[in-house]
Amino acid sequence: MNPVQAWIEARREELIALLREFVECESPSDDAAAVNRFQELLASRLGGFARARFYPSALGGRGRNLRLEFDLPGPRRKRPGHILAVGHADTVWRLGTLHEMPFRRAEGRLWGPGVLDMKGGLVLFIYALKALQALELPLERKICLWVVSDEEAGSTGSRARTEALARAARAVLVLEPSTGLEGKLKTARKGVGIYHLAVSGRAAHAGVDFAAGASAIVELARQIGVLAPFTDLKKGITVNPGVISGGSRTNVVAAAAGAEVDVRVARRSDAARLDRRFRALAPFDARCTLEITGGLNRPPMERTARGAALFRAARSIARRELGMELEESSSGGGSDGNFTAAMGVPTLDGIGAVGEGLHAPHESLLEACLAPRAALLALLVRHLGQ
Ligand SMILES: [Zn+2]
Repeated sequence: MNPVQAWIEARREELIALLREFVECESPSDDAAAVNRFQELLASRLGGFARARFYPSALGGRGRNLRLEFDLPGPRRKRPGHILAVGHADTVWRLGTLHEMPFRRAEGRLWGPGVLDMKGGLVLFIYALKALQALELPLERKICLWVVSDEEAGSTGSRARTEALARAARAVLVLEPSTGLEGKLKTARKGVGIYHLAVSGRAAHAGVDFAAGASAIVELARQIGVLAPFTDLKKGITVNPGVISGGSRTNVVAAAAGAEVDVRVARRSDAARLDRRFRALAPFDARCTLEITGGLNRPPMERTARGAALFRAARSIARRELGMELEESSSGGGSDGNFTAAMGVPTLDGIGAVGEGLHAPHESLLEACLAPRAALLALLVRHLGQ
């Protein structure tokens, strides 16, 4: 067994104990105090090994972001071009979820809210670097871990700083869970956006004065008939009116209605065209008005040559050193890797834990994959850090 993997495997119980502590410190995106508690726990567990610095969220974002810079063997003055690992402290699970979904160890898996997405990924990265330190494997570049507070809520409060940290990076490793139980890495992700469509009509009594009314609900229904077909599965474009609202009473012609529409695009060029189509929506009934707001909040992470080269490096290290076959995949979901890849920085995503059920009650990761995956991170960091 590769010595890095062996070192980590020998500390499996310790690693799981840290992961348990992380999962049991619940951190929903919308609870800044809880997210901050988790960030402080994370920083405290790395005391003496990494220097921690907290950054407030921008744009009214919630919770603090955390940057950790590791003290690793190698020259004191490091070469330019650091390695940036990106993770998030927040989860989609509300406080108290642990009562129904406690951390547990069963069937060769670890279970609990956020265990896979992505507290497992954070713990793997920590143990990867602990192994490099303990085995005195030197690095010539700085290694940073950037843990945002709001990834599950769109990253609005952390995006600018994520981009600033990525700008000078040699490579970005995103500690999101991999795809499927085979643990495929992610070299492409769709861009993600939300459009809000607000329709204003004219209220009237549905019996006495029907003709004087202009129904916002009828208008909204017709608009949905126009925008839903913007979906083009062959091009990887989906348009999902996921939430609608409107009206007040059955006997009133509705004065207001609205829809929230999730959009996903595989290619940046399609995003611009889709945006123009949303902005060009016009009312069927001239007495109604439309207000269209929102747009793409994560650009697509397109499969680039530099991203693919990073994947190939990971694949050959996995094969040579760990006897592991790695595959790549593309994802319909977004991550902070979308931002860094769109800047042209080589980005490899989905290099965190292996499991299934993220954002679902069966969220779990495979215990047997912990040491091999942490070793993969360690060896990749070592390769890139030369
Ligand atoms: Zn995640």
